[in-house]
Amino acid sequence: MAEQKRDYYEVLGVSRDADAETIKKAFRTLAKKYHPDMNPGDKDAEAKFKEVNEAYAVLSDPEKRRKYDQFGQAAFDGGAGGGGFYEGNAADFGDIFGDLFGNEGGIFGDFFGGGRRQSAQSANAPQRGANITAPVNLTFEEAVFGCEKEVTVDYHETCTACHGTGAKNGTSQVTCPTCNGKGRIVQMSRGVFGTMQNIQTCPNCHGTGKIIKERCPNCSGTGYIRTRKKLKVTIPAGVDNGIAIRNAGGGEPGLNGGPRGDLLVECRVAPHPIFKRQDTNIYSSVAIPFTTAALGGTVKIKTLDGDIDYDVKAGTQTDTRIQFRGRGVPSMRYKGVRGDHFVNLVVEVPKKLTKEQKEALQKFADTMNGTGAPRKKRLFQ
Ligand SMILES: [Zn+2]
Ligand SMILES: [Zn+2]
Repeated sequence: MAEQKRDYYEVLGVSRDADAETIKKAFRTLAKKYHPDMNPGDKDAEAKFKEVNEAYAVLSDPEKRRKYDQFGQAAFDGGAGGGGFYEGNAADFGDIFGDLFGNEGGIFGDFFGGGRRQSAQSANAPQRGANITAPVNLTFEEAVFGCEKEVTVDYHETCTACHGTGAKNGTSQVTCPTCNGKGRIVQMSRGVFGTMQNIQTCPNCHGTGKIIKERCPNCSGTGYIRTRKKLKVTIPAGVDNGIAIRNAGGGEPGLNGGPRGDLLVECRVAPHPIFKRQDTNIYSSVAIPFTTAALGGTVKIKTLDGDIDYDVKAGTQTDTRIQFRGRGVPSMRYKGVRGDHFVNLVVEVPKKLTKEQKEALQKFADTMNGTGAPRKKRLFQ
């Protein structure tokens, strides 16, 4: 049954020319307002929450937004019906939620301050594993052209002996006797103001409601084994210092069946003795003898692709900039596109001259008629 859907812009309460930031803001506000956790059992809020998410999934994606602007709802009604759109975009959806409900900066952080979410229920809920950051050292050229690298990663692997339960083979987890499986304990204390009720996370089971009777000897009951692994990672051409390459699912294992976190390979690029890099462009300086600058000639210029014999024109001035198109760094964004290499030609004047060279140069100076080198000797003769 095709039901008439509200306009996505109307759903989020933004104008049709709203920028990405405005859309995100509107979404956060509404998602907070209609979130099922905030409106338990409210079917209307639940429907609104779905609607808001759907609108955001489209309007936050430039490509989908463009299609929506052009064709309206029809752009997404291809065969699968209303629900198809949702499922087809599970990845996007995960991103939105990761963003919203992640540990840092999640919008619910304000509502459920600290320990409040530490109920017995949430402690057993699936949790995504933590990300692992592993640095990788690259030479300038390796970063420019890409390479295969081995990185050493320390992480926790699920214990194979107990499959992560932490319980000794053949035994199982039992209900925590301290809290009777509630994960919390209520303490009554009598003070000057009467009886006080104090609710605490159970110290015995740390809120899970379950304890291990006999610990797994393989992992000492933690359920995890600390592992060091060497992993081969592909460094794409064009990475720069500080860029992290995401290896989805390469992080710490999740809790209670949650997915693994990601491995972030952080690129540390060594500086080059000659080349300076800015985005995809390369800059370098090449010294040329003043005679070559005056008379013209060939100089060798180092580029990322090897030496180039460059013809210096007669009468070249110092700080002349030449440009080698497409000899820079490959773009990470546009495949097959490379930046440029800019070379600064610096005319070098000799610091020491032999007697013959001095005489030859003086002869040259004499021909300049006062337009070239100073003629001190003449002045004082
Ligand atoms: Zn174990
Ligand atoms: Zn307990």
